[in-house]
Amino acid sequence: MHTSPLDQPGTGDAGGMNVYIVESAKRLARLGVEVEIFTRATARDLPPVAEIAPGVLVRHLTAGPYEEMDRADLPGQLCAFLSEVLRTEAMYDAGRYDVIHSHYWLSGQVGWLAKERWGVPLVHTMHTMAKVKNLLLARGDKPEPAARVIGEQQVVDVADRLVANTGDEADELIGLYGADPGRVAVVSPGVNLSVFRPASQGAARRRLGLPQDAHVLLFVGRIQPLKAPDVLLRAASRMLIDEPALRERLVVACVGGPSGNGLARPSFLTDLAAELGIADVVRLVPPAPQEELADWYRAATVTVVPSYSESFGLVALESQACGTPVAAAAVGGLRTAVRDGVSGLLVNGHDPADWALALRRLLAAPRRRARLAAGAREHAAAFGWQATAARLMEVYAGAVAHLHKVPVALPNA
Ligand code: UDP
Repeated sequence: MHTSPLDQPGTGDAGGMNVYIVESAKRLARLGVEVEIFTRATARDLPPVAEIAPGVLVRHLTAGPYEEMDRADLPGQLCAFLSEVLRTEAMYDAGRYDVIHSHYWLSGQVGWLAKERWGVPLVHTMHTMAKVKNLLLARGDKPEPAARVIGEQQVVDVADRLVANTGDEADELIGLYGADPGRVAVVSPGVNLSVFRPASQGAARRRLGLPQDAHVLLFVGRIQPLKAPDVLLRAASRMLIDEPALRERLVVACVGGPSGNGLARPSFLTDLAAELGIADVVRLVPPAPQEELADWYRAATVTVVPSYSESFGLVALESQACGTPVAAAAVGGLRTAVRDGVSGLLVNGHDPADWALALRRLLAAPRRRARLAAGAREHAAAFGWQATAARLMEVYAGAVAHLHKVPVALPNA
């Protein structure tokens, strides 16, 4: 409800969830499933329905004004969105849906009523959880409101299956929200291994206009407090104080656009770089489509993911699939997405001094980086979206069988 599969990820409300929905829908369609995705129309001229891949339809529903709305205002549009979902189903072919899979709590609320109305199971993925975010809040970041905590709890209570990205997330659903362990399924997200694949670092740097002999520290993602790009900038500034000669060779690249409050001020990172005296080494790049992003990962010496919390962290996986090791915060799904000491390294806490030390050590150890790069490729190769779709099919079949008390045959994956 709060973002569309057609949006460019990496800015505003569009991120890993959008990528997840598009990639898993395409793979489900290849397994013979007809997928229809309902999303809120954010422009008057959007077609009511768009086919984004064979067997995958996106339906634009009118709920509120035809423009971006602050996520905080969207709960007021839940009724409008739900009534459009129900009207669409009744108008075209009542009874044609077998399963509802809702993503994020707002859509979960809509799925809750649609499930009751249609008599089909609701499978829900949280993507992020208010209670987890509030426990790990970045300094100055606003806590998630009670309305979201309550709304998430209701969805957890009514969903037939809850899909968690990792075992840690499953534990959080059970421990913090009291989810029934029998209804929680762990399904790993994937990475598009044909887009994110290793290729020449030199050629990627030429295409992006980066010096061949530079150490490139890369941040990719939405510019928001939770993602902590400021920790990278502060760490880079410390690295330059400790080792001034590095200034000739260091590039800090941040790819992504503003999102939410706080760091959303478009000039935030520019101002911080100037304040820290490192504007000459920082490059801010607007959100990039995936093919171009793959070049940024290939060009990077290391991808830095200092997030305060992360339910998985697709960026970490994409970087590794391109053969670039990751330095990530030891939080949430990043502990699964990165194998510490094998495909990258995990850093505890968010003290820029610790990050500066970890990064300087990595830059000074080319053989260690080469070992991590090999480990990164191998680790990422185990995550494909086909496997995600096949596992989702098992979860859907289990939910249908449980609700209707009949076994369901799965198509061949
Ligand atoms: N992304 C992108 N272009 C950008 C920045 C990010 O396409 O300029 C994509 C990136 O490829 C990844 C997603 O946005 O798939 C971010 O997902 P992640 O799980 O890392 O973070 P989230 O946004 O879900 O918090």
